[in-house]
Amino acid sequence: MTIQTDVVIIGAGPCGLFQIFELGLLDLHAQVIDALPQVGGQCSELYPDKPIYDIPGYPVVGAKELIDRLLLQIKPFAPNFHLGQQIDSLQCLDDGSFRLTTDAGGEFHTRAVVIAGGVGSFQPVPLRLDGIERFHDRQVFYHVRDPSQHHGRHVVVLGGGDSALDWALQLIGKAASVTLIHRSATFRAAPASVTAFREHTQAGHARLLFGQVLAYQEGDGRLTGLQIQDLERQCHDLEAEHVLVFYGLTPKLGPIAEWGLTLNKHQIEVDTEKFQTSVPGIYAVGDINWYPGKKKLILSGFHEAALAAFAIKHQLFPDQKIHLQYTTTSPSVHKKLGVPD
Ligand SMILES: Cc1cc2nc3c(=O)[nH]c(=O)nc-3n(C[C@H](O)[C@H](O)[C@H](O)COP(=O)(O)OP(=O)(O)OC[C@H]3O[C@@H](n4cnc5c(N)ncnc54)[C@H](O)[C@@H]3O)c2cc1C
Repeated sequence: MTIQTDVVIIGAGPCGLFQIFELGLLDLHAQVIDALPQVGGQCSELYPDKPIYDIPGYPVVGAKELIDRLLLQIKPFAPNFHLGQQIDSLQCLDDGSFRLTTDAGGEFHTRAVVIAGGVGSFQPVPLRLDGIERFHDRQVFYHVRDPSQHHGRHVVVLGGGDSALDWALQLIGKAASVTLIHRSATFRAAPASVTAFREHTQAGHARLLFGQVLAYQEGDGRLTGLQIQDLERQCHDLEAEHVLVFYGLTPKLGPIAEWGLTLNKHQIEVDTEKFQTSVPGIYAVGDINWYPGKKKLILSGFHEAALAAFAIKHQLFPDQKIHLQYTTTSPSVHKKLGVPD
């Protein structure tokens, strides 16, 4: 089913989230798509616990706290989030509108698009073994979409971060066996998760091996095992029906680079009046855009989102006069925000 909307926002980082607010003030509703399973972009993915010191009005705010506050601020506008989906294709239609599709089968029809894609979508770092891609999404997984598909299987989890530890812990007692392989005894995951997993290994519920994957075994077209070299360079053969790879994520501009927009290096060129790209109706805000003097800062993205919202309103309703309204004093803004009289 195609979802019809005023605006599609690609990216739910801080700038994409604030874009929802600015559009909402002008009565425009947005559908928001992000490749990650959670909102917040770099703030949530790369530095959730770090303090930020240059958000106006906050002498200090944690990155995750900023995202939580943005979510609270946009709540009155009830945005629709489509998470864990990457926008794959964008098609310009003859009437000036756009059709977008996601890698999860989502389809959107809209008259305006805001690209708030930051440094691009975060792609999982792959397990590099010749021919292993034949087993992707059948026996080798980079995301867990449906945990129950791993129940009753011999599962090997690769990595030492939060995703690796969280999924390894969740599958204990449900998978036929759980083995965690990490390249060293130093983990990036929360210490409490590491302790919990070690306790399970001591109780015989799971296995922990330090080393790297050298090769895989297969039979009848199926993956059957992995060969692991431990830190003493000893090799071990391990039964593996499902392999969950959590080696981390790297940002890639990905499909956005192929949409024919004028780029400056890896950023999308925009004007500084509307933050519109070289294609009318497609705007770009936040880290992904470029103009003379661009600074990749959250506060710059917030300003860009405000001006882009006004430009979109004018694009969609060219005959309507758009008044700038102060949120402090405007009764109509108060109504939209649910502020009591
Ligand atoms: C360690 C660190 C510290 C920082 N400290 C500060 C600071 O103190 N102050 C400051 O102002 N800035 C700081 N920054 C920079 C700040 O985080 C960025 O400026 C900000 O995150 C940009 O927001 P954004 O919304 O433009 O993009 P992002 O936060 O990068 O979010 C973009 C989102 O778009 C999604 N996306 C991309 N392409 C697609 C696609 N095709 N389909 C679906 N989804 C897609 C991505 O998954 C991502 O979630 C810091 C950055 C880092 C890494």
